[in-house]
Amino acid sequence: MRKSVKSVIRFWLRPFFLALCIAGCGRSSPTVRLQWTVMGTIAAVQCPTRAEAESVKAICQRIFAEQERIFSVWDAGSVVSSVNQAAGGDAAVPVPDHFRTVLECALEMHRRSEGAFNPLLAPVLRLWGFLGSNRKGVPGDDEIAKASALTDCRDIKFDGNGCLLAKKGMALDLGAIAKGYAVDVAFDAVKQAGFEIFLIDLGGNIRVSGNPHSDCDGWVIGVRDPHSPRAVAKTVRLSSGEAVATSADYERFRIIDGKRYGHIIDPRSGRPALGRACSVKADNAMVADGLSTALYILDDEKGEALLESFTAKRLY
Ligand code: FAD
Ligand code: MG
Repeated sequence: MRKSVKSVIRFWLRPFFLALCIAGCGRSSPTVRLQWTVMGTIAAVQCPTRAEAESVKAICQRIFAEQERIFSVWDAGSVVSSVNQAAGGDAAVPVPDHFRTVLECALEMHRRSEGAFNPLLAPVLRLWGFLGSNRKGVPGDDEIAKASALTDCRDIKFDGNGCLLAKKGMALDLGAIAKGYAVDVAFDAVKQAGFEIFLIDLGGNIRVSGNPHSDCDGWVIGVRDPHSPRAVAKTVRLSSGEAVATSADYERFRIIDGKRYGHIIDPRSGRPALGRACSVKADNAMVADGLSTALYILDDEKGEALLESFTAKRLY
């Protein structure tokens, strides 16, 4: 694909992880991009024309609102919040298929990552002041041990079309995988509506369809360098249907006594992982999203094995 530097249109897709560079393939007309905020982050769509972008945005907004009502731990009325509130009780909470699909994927990610990915970390995250908790200071070892005792995935029970967390105080947080899933649901709905050339981004979880220009093969995405905010560490090309996700600690973190603690927890220690930013490409956005979080924690060898098992690729 011919890509001249002048035609690479660069803007910060999400001031956090990914810069989006679209190679104009020698042509100056970039695609039309519309963005808005949702789920505490920035969403964007890109299409060849404004009319298409408006229609694709409307489909995504409808889908993201529906997914937020299921998965948001920020909304006390969501399905996840209802399951969390019922933890330790004896009645399973009825859950929709979307919930089951995401939780089953999260549990598979948990199993294959040897516990590095864990959907039950809300009690630990809250100790460290995340998920809207206003905890101050570094939690003590016994508090961490107590919260970590609530993160055993074997205590998640499915009963018919219901879900029950066996112990009081257990709480799901699917923030590491549900946005990717929402992108996949939106991707299918946009395709079903007959659109062929589009990009959907939800907080750095990106999935693309078609080719932005006839003489292009795929979309060229820039991955931001975590160590120098304005630089693009590398550009990668996504073919139609592929997805990319990034996990890092330089946007969601807390400073406690002058030390920075990121929002990705190593479940084995109950403490923020000292990982490196990582971007993963996969054939759907939910898997890319979950893997980028797990790889942030795993060492290279275990990370490679996990990627292989999902036929995904680490980009950075
Ligand atoms: P990722 O790496 O994809 O995920 C990291 C997140 O996963 C952490 O923030 C934590 O929540 C969780 N996590 C940490 N360690 C692990 C681990 N080892 N295994 C599994 N999970 C782990 N944020 C707001 O500020 N306001 C909102 O209103 C809001 N609403 C949301 C609604 C929904 C439906 C979802 C899914 C998220 C919402 N968020 C909200 C959170 C925000 O959008 C992102 O989910 C959050 O920033 C993490 O996503 P990420 O892509 O940045 O990082
Ligand atoms: Mg993720």
